[in-house]
Amino acid sequence: MHRVQEISQLIFPTRCLGCNKLSPIICPDCSTQWEKNKFITRQSGLTVHSTILYTPVAAKIIVAAKENGSSSADKLLMEAIMWQLQNLNFNLNNIRLVPIPSSKRSIRNRGRSFIIDIVQQISQQTGIPVLDCLSLTGKTIDQSRLNRKQRLENMKGAISMKAVARGELLLIDDVITTGATLKEAARALNSQGFYAQISAITACVAQPLR
Ligand SMILES: [Zn+2]
Repeated sequence: MHRVQEISQLIFPTRCLGCNKLSPIICPDCSTQWEKNKFITRQSGLTVHSTILYTPVAAKIIVAAKENGSSSADKLLMEAIMWQLQNLNFNLNNIRLVPIPSSKRSIRNRGRSFIIDIVQQISQQTGIPVLDCLSLTGKTIDQSRLNRKQRLENMKGAISMKAVARGELLLIDDVITTGATLKEAARALNSQGFYAQISAITACVAQPLR
């Protein structure tokens, strides 16, 4: 967190990340849009476990973490991801957490690599190692205005390997929308010649795009 934000939190009391009312991190009204649940999405052989429906409140929490570097929003996303880790019957000894890479431009704009940051904090709390083995090739454009088909096309060949991956791999991302990014990450992981065992956890899950 930036020093200015730290100081402002001492002077001003906390506000709800969903509606900006004076309250704890999420007020009781907004907490109905941030309920933990077991959502499963299957993407061509890849099973994706998600915790929270991508509601308007969830969207604001993700923006607060991603674009404003809010540590309370980070914490909510970490909790959502770790909740799935606890619920799933993984053999935690073999698992490696693989963060989905961010573009160089967004790392520059945000002053950090958002998902890697969150995954490293989860690793510190759970003892599960991070395997930061993926990188973006730089061919993609911003996906926010693309439909499902365009996103799949945009992500084709967009991720490459920068380190060898072993063990049971668990891809981590903030939200699954079309699954194009996770699908491409799994393809890159498998491209190294042996078929790794791969699944994924995302904090949030959006309604499928058409
Ligand atoms: Zn609220």
